[in-house]
Amino acid sequence: MTATVYLDHNATAPLRPAARDAMAAALGVTGNASSVHAAGRDARRVIEDARDRVAALAGVDPQRVVFTSGGTEANNLALRGQHTARVLVSAVEHVSVREAVPIPETLPVDGDGIVDLVALDKTLGEIPGVALVAVMLANNETGVIQPINEVSAIVRNHGARLHVDAVQAAGRLPLEAISMAADTLALSAHKIGGPAGVGALVVGDGVVLEPILRGGGQERRRRAGTENVIGIAGFGAAAEVALAELDAADDLRRLRDRAEAALSSTPGVTVFGANVARLANTSCLTMPGVVAETQIMALDLDGVAVSAGAACSSGKVETSHVLTAMGIGAETAGEAIRISVGWDSTDADVDALIAAWRKLYAKLGQRRGQAA
Ligand code: PLP
Repeated sequence: MTATVYLDHNATAPLRPAARDAMAAALGVTGNASSVHAAGRDARRVIEDARDRVAALAGVDPQRVVFTSGGTEANNLALRGQHTARVLVSAVEHVSVREAVPIPETLPVDGDGIVDLVALDKTLGEIPGVALVAVMLANNETGVIQPINEVSAIVRNHGARLHVDAVQAAGRLPLEAISMAADTLALSAHKIGGPAGVGALVVGDGVVLEPILRGGGQERRRRAGTENVIGIAGFGAAAEVALAELDAADDLRRLRDRAEAALSSTPGVTVFGANVARLANTSCLTMPGVVAETQIMALDLDGVAVSAGAACSSGKVETSHVLTAMGIGAETAGEAIRISVGWDSTDADVDALIAAWRKLYAKLGQRRGQAA
């Protein structure tokens, strides 16, 4: 049975109708945006229009937006396209940051998942030359929000550069101040209701970026390759709606909190990141004694889609590096699931989640009773 209740927006958000319409319209555009003829100019217009909208979401000038094939490429471009003495990444970064360069140094986080600012200051003080620091704005597994302004002040004090992965924060938090605090900022369309396979790197003035793909001079020589006009059109439309709906965070928080309150009334449930600022849409919690795979499969059978915090690309659930970095033991981390609501979530979805969760808990309780 296909899941009808979709509570996995942090994995990918359902396509927004406006993005679908923009993409359908762009399918009719024939030209290559680099061509000077009228058809080429039509494609260029679609791209520049979308650039304006993505720039508005990030709160920056459009010329700072470089379209990429997604958040992964944006993170790779930021980390591999700049030549710095050393690269420091927080221990809770997405794998596309952690593995973008061969040997990054890891910055520890505390038990709530917040980056250790003292360690950042100390480490930067020991590095001769310009370092590059990557700290995400909001974590994909826990939703925990990093103090980017404080990170930025330390980074700037040491003459280092700051890359911020804002893939999960876009459309959920205002980005203008963050874009100013960062040298580069990564975005991805499919987390905000656009299509997968398109994203952007916002590049600050004064950042010298070497392209990581060699070829044509597209994107002002910062990203070679004929632009994905259809995907970019969808990204632009999704960005516009996501910006307009920023204040819907309160509705999402209400849904998330209702789900979290009901689930955590079960004895022994741990909610990660609950003591610090978190995205309004995300809840990462455990059903004690039940591995995440069992929970996900049981909920799926009841038509509810959630995910294990760490089941990224392979579908295989490995111990979450995020929860591990927060000092959570492997057993507890292995029981963590992530619920993430979004633009199409409703109270009925939350009701279905609560019912499916309670059913599973009761069933396992019965088994526990039989085994005793
Ligand atoms: N950064 C974060 C925080 C993410 O959650 C993701 C996707 O899961 C990415 C980067 C990668 O983005 P994309 O899927 O567009 O490559």
